[in-house]
Amino acid sequence: MSDNWIEFFSLDADEREAAQLIYAQVQWLLDREIIAHSERPDEFHGTYREGPRSVDAFDAASIPDSIGASGEQMLFGGVRVEHGWQVSHNIDGFEGPPCPVCGSWMAIDVAGDALRRWYMSRVEPEVNCASCGQADLLGNWPHKFAGYANYASLSFVNSWPLAPHFERELLERIGRRPGVVCVRL
Ligand SMILES: [Zn+2]
Repeated sequence: MSDNWIEFFSLDADEREAAQLIYAQVQWLLDREIIAHSERPDEFHGTYREGPRSVDAFDAASIPDSIGASGEQMLFGGVRVEHGWQVSHNIDGFEGPPCPVCGSWMAIDVAGDALRRWYMSRVEPEVNCASCGQADLLGNWPHKFAGYANYASLSFVNSWPLAPHFERELLERIGRRPGVVCVRL
């Protein structure tokens, strides 16, 4: 199975705010016992592993009974925090986002070019819909298989699908302009 992760970030936090915001979520996850400090931290899986109540974060229907019952298999690989100016994007199967007004898909090369400009300039670009003319900042075209620049992110690595209520709560905690992408390596 290929590696994958779900990555959360803020679209408008500056470098200092972003790190504070993401580490505040780490503390929240530790307090809720969704995660715990890992005894074997690594660069890919991160420095946190599943906690005693990690099952609270997942969509129970997606977890095979055998895993919950045996308790032998991990529910996810780890939680990784990254900070510093970066792009969070799907790698295998990157897609342009759909227009928030008419739903027309942005071409992959247009989305990729806008993302490159964002990363190089650190200024979020405005993009236009080729169908209806809608013009808005790229971050206001949300799509889980696209990509966005940010100063810090938190990823659940190789995890089961997160419960919708848990994902909503985490996004709300990240502030006015939260972002999330699903990455398949
Ligand atoms: Zn449109």
